[in-house]
Parts: sequence; structure tokens; C-alpha cells
Amino acid sequence: MIPTVLLLTVILASIWVYSDSKRTNPSSFLPIFWLISVLVMPIIMIPLYLVLYVARNRFLGRYMPKNLGSKFCPKCGADNALATTVCTSCHNKFSL
Ligand SMILES: [Zn+2]
Repeated sequence: MIPTVLLLTVILASIWVYSDSKRTNPSSFLPIFWLISVLVMPIIMIPLYLVLYVARNRFLGRYMPKNLGSKFCPKCGADNALATTVCTSCHNKFSL
């Protein structure tokens, strides 16, 4: 029972990591790299990805210019249309 739950968690985590890195690196090998890494070494790679994910979101929220026709959510880093008032990804309300 417990191994099944763990296996499901690892599979779900790898799918999330894959789709998340695919969103930011659509034309690179990184999504595949992360997918395999999380499947092979979940104990190491899931925390590592989470750390990088948080760091990237902070970077995007702070340094991305706001006049490129899109609005980056400061909470989750998702790319939203300029006219949006609520993040389409995490439903965070923009304070603009
Ligand atoms: Zn968001």
C-alpha cells in the first residue's frame, strides 16, 4: 500500500515538474531531463526542483518587464494577459 502511494506521488511529481519546466523551456531538453531525474532520484530531485521553482518565480516576479504584453504573477510566476486582474494559474489577485 505505502509503496503504491509513494510511486503515485513520484509519478505525479514528475508530471508536474515536466509540464512546469515545459512551460518555461518549451524548446529545450530540460523538461525531459527533469522528468527522468525525478523518476530516477525523486528524493533528491523533487526538493531541488522546488527550490529552483521558487527561485525562478521570485526572479520572474521581480525582474520581468511589465510592458511586454504579459503580466507575470508574483505568486506563481505564471504568464497572464495584461488585462487580467486575477492569475489564471493560481487565482492570485493582482494588486495593480
Ligand atoms: Zn499565479
